Amino acid sequence: MNDLHRDTHLATKRPHADKPVDVAGVRITHPGRVVYPDDGITKGEVAAYYAAVADWILPGLINRPLSMVRCPGGTDSACFFQKHHAAKLGSSVRPIPLEEKDGGEDDYVYISDRKGLLQLVQMNTIEFHPWGSRVDKPDSPDRIVLDLDPAPGVAWEAVVEGARGIRELLAGMQLTSFVRTSGGKGLHVVVPFRRGPRWQAVKDFCERVAVAMVERAPDRYIATASKAQREGKIFIDWLRNARGATSVCSWSLRARDGAPVAMPLRWEELGKVDSGAAFGMQAALERASRLRTDPWEGMATLQQRLPRG
Ligand code: ATP
Ligand code: MN
Repeated sequence: MNDLHRDTHLATKRPHADKPVDVAGVRITHPGRVVYPDDGITKGEVAAYYAAVADWILPGLINRPLSMVRCPGGTDSACFFQKHHAAKLGSSVRPIPLEEKDGGEDDYVYISDRKGLLQLVQMNTIEFHPWGSRVDKPDSPDRIVLDLDPAPGVAWEAVVEGARGIRELLAGMQLTSFVRTSGGKGLHVVVPFRRGPRWQAVKDFCERVAVAMVERAPDRYIATASKAQREGKIFIDWLRNARGATSVCSWSLRARDGAPVAMPLRWEELGKVDSGAAFGMQAALERASRLRTDPWEGMATLQQRLPRG
């Protein structure tokens, strides 16, 4: 634990010293409250993190329906997924009415700027999980995420090889893809594309990619969610590419020990990373201040189309 953390611990013991602070124009209450007990990271530090990486995180986050993982009692007690809007979330946390599976309609959440981001942090949001579509056309996705979930004991090198294999397979279809650590056990391969196909067609495409990987190496990969058959293998989770499903966004903290971050990488950097949780909050801050160009440079201007089924 460094001195900064020690000081904030002291601050929590003196309530009068834990006054609200202004972070990027948003009032953050209880900034000295420890959110990550094992790491001594406070709510104020989480807010400072998101303010510092705002320019990096916002492009992948804004104007998309969004689920949050909120941890009002810290990351070691009950965190919960929230997808529905509430006025108390903040003036820049916006509602978007969307149809539910049961046919009804309810207000989902989206943000459009740094203020919305920090208002969600004020409401104890730790993780940000956007949809693969944008609020103006929620039924027309513009990106897919292929999630590599290694079973316990699978070597990290095999996960890296799996991600590279998916990249190669996609390249064979003239599709450029991007990679990030999940901040957990695995890697996500992300493919942006021009809007057009609906969710069902997009999900079918993702299934074909996962199945093609299994056909290449059935001893290494599995494309079904069955836990029983997963032993020793990497589950290529294509199922999250459905309406209403989410993936954690790049630069989001995870509510897990070590305060890991889902970190976008250049493909060339992947060999130097040794786990899905390789980047903690501090390492992510250092990377953010060092980076000259987006590791996912070029994504925004790519005009590729998903092949039809
Ligand atoms: P890891 O590498 O450890 O697998 P991950 O982010 O890929 O990290 P998964 O458990 O594979 O985690 O995937 C879960 C994904 O599905 C999350 O990123 C999240 O967006 C979504 N998800 C997980 N749990 C829930 C939940 N309870 N409610 C809604 N969405 C969830
Ligand atoms: Mn995963």
